[in-house]
Amino acid sequence: MRLFSCDNCGNTIHFDNGTCVACSRRLGYVPSRWRMTSLEPSGEGWNSLALGESFAFCTNAEIGACNWLLPIDQAGHLCPACRHNRTIPALTDDKTIDAFRRVLSAERHLFYSLLAWRLPVPNRVEDPEAGLAFDFLADEIGPDGGVTPVMTGHTDGVITLAIAEADDAAREERRVHLGEPYRTLLGHFRHEIGHYYWDRLVRDGGRLDAFRAVFGDERQDYAEALQRNYREGPPADWQNRFVSTYAACHPWEDFAETFAHYIHMVDALETAHALGLAISPRVAVPEQLDLEVDFAPYRQKDFGALANAWPPLTVAVNEINRSLGQRDFYPFVLSAEILSKLEFVHELIAQGRSSGT
Ligand SMILES: [Zn+2]
Ligand SMILES: [Zn+2]
Ligand SMILES: [Zn+2]
Repeated sequence: MRLFSCDNCGNTIHFDNGTCVACSRRLGYVPSRWRMTSLEPSGEGWNSLALGESFAFCTNAEIGACNWLLPIDQAGHLCPACRHNRTIPALTDDKTIDAFRRVLSAERHLFYSLLAWRLPVPNRVEDPEAGLAFDFLADEIGPDGGVTPVMTGHTDGVITLAIAEADDAAREERRVHLGEPYRTLLGHFRHEIGHYYWDRLVRDGGRLDAFRAVFGDERQDYAEALQRNYREGPPADWQNRFVSTYAACHPWEDFAETFAHYIHMVDALETAHALGLAISPRVAVPEQLDLEVDFAPYRQKDFGALANAWPPLTVAVNEINRSLGQRDFYPFVLSAEILSKLEFVHELIAQGRSSGT
């Protein structure tokens, strides 16, 4: 993620900010310009101080759930991220509204990446068959008080997300129970969108043979593969082959986990780039631990540049976490096989962008 500065006072501002903490100006993100801007009220809308244009906020801004801007002639509409939301929970209490805000914040972060890569993001109105839609659902509570949990997942372009995942305590309990290093709202979005792009870019994109050569044959029984994983756990050598234990269940899950991991990598490297972060250890270590992200990660064509920059950053942040008594920020080891899967995703995204399919 990039850093931004306030058009009015120059203070550093962040992607999620709604107001500048230094000068109190209202802020919004202009997705078509890839930037935040500072605003002043103007009639029905808002004037950008730097862009000289009028904007309207996404309608989800009314409940403080979105800070994206649209051209003023689209006032009353949803932004390029929120317009994919097909079902949202009843926003009748503060807890649900707070959960909805967290979900949309993660969704915008996802769309930041998809739009940066210019990946196709049609909604169901633009493409009723293959468009992308989100159903954000609350768990059902029966008359006897029993809870039927919503399952997060992807089916034919529709991504279902349990808004219970926005509750930190509940999500953390599931994370520990399932033995996952990462379980975050943004991680769910990045995983499920991997399934969506598998359909679009691998299956519909005529790349099944290339996919199978790297990830294996996805025609094996999916339900049986999941059951085997729950029953027996991952294979003993999973760390050499898969980015997570869940990735070991089935090639579809391997792809989705790898897709999510690739977005994690590129976005974190962009943050390092934005901060001008440089790492040069003061003890004798292999040269590979030097870091300077002197390229724009979202536009980097050479996968090797991303793969080489990544280990120094993860080692450095792990060391800082240990100093603070926290668990490792990055408890993963990327083997050659995992890197080849990440490279497949890298190439797929590059092709998805150029062909526009
Ligand atoms: Zn300011
Ligand atoms: Zn929005
Ligand atoms: Zn999945």
